[in-house]
Amino acid sequence: MTIQQENNQVKKNYINGKWVPSERYSTNINPSNLNEVIGYFSEANKQDALDAIMAAKDATAIWAGTGIQQRSDILDNIGNKILSRQVELGELLAREEGKTRAEAMGEVHRAGSIFKFFAGEVLRQSGEAIDSVRPGVSVTTTRSPVGVVGIITPWNFPIAIPAWKIAPALAYGNTVVFKPAELVPASAHALAEIIVEAGVPAGVFNLVMGEGKVVGDILVKHKDVKAITFTGSVNTGRAIAVEAVKNMKKIQLEMGGKNPAIVLDDADIDLAVETCVQSAFYSTGQRCTASSRIIVTAGIHDKFVKAMQERMSKITVGDALSESTDIGPVVDEKQLVQNLAYVEIGKAEGAELVCGGEKLTLAKTGFYMSPALFINTTNDMRINQEEIFGPIATIIKVKDYQQALAVANDSEFGLSAGICTTSLKYAKHFQENIQAGMTMVNLPTAGVDYHVPFGGTKGSSYGSREQGSYAKEFYTTVKTSYLSA
Ligand code: ADP
Repeated sequence: MTIQQENNQVKKNYINGKWVPSERYSTNINPSNLNEVIGYFSEANKQDALDAIMAAKDATAIWAGTGIQQRSDILDNIGNKILSRQVELGELLAREEGKTRAEAMGEVHRAGSIFKFFAGEVLRQSGEAIDSVRPGVSVTTTRSPVGVVGIITPWNFPIAIPAWKIAPALAYGNTVVFKPAELVPASAHALAEIIVEAGVPAGVFNLVMGEGKVVGDILVKHKDVKAITFTGSVNTGRAIAVEAVKNMKKIQLEMGGKNPAIVLDDADIDLAVETCVQSAFYSTGQRCTASSRIIVTAGIHDKFVKAMQERMSKITVGDALSESTDIGPVVDEKQLVQNLAYVEIGKAEGAELVCGGEKLTLAKTGFYMSPALFINTTNDMRINQEEIFGPIATIIKVKDYQQALAVANDSEFGLSAGICTTSLKYAKHFQENIQAGMTMVNLPTAGVDYHVPFGGTKGSSYGSREQGSYAKEFYTTVKTSYLSA
């Protein structure tokens, strides 16, 4: 590109109330069509990140002092603007991430709804009055903003995850430095434009697109960033935790999953197949809540495998924007190579591939692969222990519910877990005994409401819950005040 083109086309970072260009930019490519450039995006450098942190620090008093009516109105305005641009934003998201148009529309709707929910939460902030053990003394609790919050997000939900972190951060009076994933700057930039248009004061919200190891690293290490909320891979999450704690920052980490979906002999088989296909393969399996281990009791196993194969043969992989597409491409080449490598690992471990698992060549050049199903797998195989993050599912045959539960719990992760059964007894026992932050009975493991807590146990999550009114635990600190009068 020429300098002229760069100035016209490159989308800029937003720091201290201004759109700021940078020396380097990244090229955003459509994974459904590698010949299509979505845009050119500024890559923040260290100084940009430091400027954004300083601006956010300086703006904390302004934002905390902004009345709750005004804060609520601004968040509601952001929500309305997102919803009114649902089609345009959804298409942009589908083009840059590769999920289907319908999935992208749903995600944008979710993002708008989240801002509107937190617009309401601004008005519902309250403390407690607690009786003191000492006569004549009163005790109250109030919540204060934490300060500057660093928000580091992944590529698989380019607008919903930023929304579910930015909205509560702003609602509870914090200022924000937002670093989106390198692969999805377009949705992040569009969201930033909306936040700016909605009237957030300068410095309160800052966008710094750029590399994790440059921009993300500064957010994690800088003493003026008081909290880090992160969604991404386990390794990055662990590294962030180690660094962040050196400055005693609050941390909230959402990492991987290896979510089990149990199918019992008494399940409604059509529902079970639909539930498993949905949560294993839709969004190209690129959801941390995707079902990747399907645990099936012996009595229904063979029938279930046959029904899965039949259903999977009807899945259309294609361009994310095509109406006939069920599953879009994988997000990028690195992920595709990794998925195909896991298919080979599965075969080498002795699992039987009965469906898919191949790179596809379609009319448009993109990162396409057919959804894969392995059978005859055991839970100790790498394909059942490591998060693949692609359209690859396995079936583990077990003798009964008790064994199914034991296998389901035999994982480092504990995000979401499902069971398909018509038995109230097993459903209830499962809800109580499965080691997971979210449990689903006769529902896919993926697909959650926007106004209730989200998060996991074990290696999946660290810190307090995201979303719903539970988000306030992370985005506020509690003050206990004693008064004698
Ligand atoms: P994935 O492998 O799915 O891309 P990552 O955990 O690498 O997941 O990325 C999730 C987010 O974390 C992205 O925004 C990325 O830029 C950011 N990130 C990556 N490395 C670091 C790091 N060392 N410090 C802070 N953020 C990072």
